[in-house]
Amino acid sequence: MTKTALVTGAARGIGLATTKTFLARGWQVAMIDIDGEELRHAADGLENVVAITADVSDPKQVMGMAEEVRETFGTLTALINNAGVADFGPIGETTFDRWQRVMRTNLDGPFLMAQACVPFMAQPGGAIVNIASISGVRASTLRVAYGTSKAAVIHLSKQQAVEYGEIGIRVNTVAPGPVDTKLALAVHTPAIRKAYHEAIPLNRYGVEQEIANAICFLCSDEASYITGQLLSADGGFQAAGVGLP
Ligand code: NAD
Repeated sequence: MTKTALVTGAARGIGLATTKTFLARGWQVAMIDIDGEELRHAADGLENVVAITADVSDPKQVMGMAEEVRETFGTLTALINNAGVADFGPIGETTFDRWQRVMRTNLDGPFLMAQACVPFMAQPGGAIVNIASISGVRASTLRVAYGTSKAAVIHLSKQQAVEYGEIGIRVNTVAPGPVDTKLALAVHTPAIRKAYHEAIPLNRYGVEQEIANAICFLCSDEASYITGQLLSADGGFQAAGVGLP
């Protein structure tokens, strides 16, 4: 039977690379994104995809989109909660609106998506991968909202792994290091870029495909006894333990 994945934030960056990696492995993919125009452009020319515009932080939109995916695929093998936003700034300048915007997409999104999709996921055999960040593991300046949201996602994954283990659904987290996507380009100042290069043992940013490979591995049969884990694809950043601006 053809395997099916739902990828959020699939219009570009890591989500689009993940979509293409699943397709190359013979899966069908539901591509979800809040940006309808960019999503249509990304899905154009791809076979075996369904593209649905939805905001993962809106419970009504999530329920409607999940129903559409269930009607299209019947069952879902993998759910990839990749949609995310970054907002870097000092604590004093992080308004409550900015804080809530980050929490809604990065934390409420994966919670709502799993609630809506688990009922029609393969049981046993389903896999959820939540995308966190090295900023959710190590604290550094400017990342109070983003880092806190990603730390919470790491714990959410563990909670889901414990609860969904009973129905045979595995849940893991991928924590990427820096990757040159639109998200990173918006918040990585020259000082941050320089610091990352110096702090990362592999001396470079990652590329989208390297994160997609880690995600797809965790959804594959090779990872059938792996659940509740955090897999960092970060060029050795956490191992080195150097500080960041
Ligand atoms: P990106 O900005 O290129 O892509 C993110 C996608 O998510 C966009 O297409 C955007 O429209 C979509 N999106 C945003 N809010 C949404 C919402 N509410 N509902 C549905 N879709 C929404 O970013 P990326 O770098 O590919 O990021 C993907 C994930 O990887 C994010 O969770 C991010 O936090 C994480 N991450 C990225 C980096 C990095 O350096 N790029 C590092 C660590 C973690």
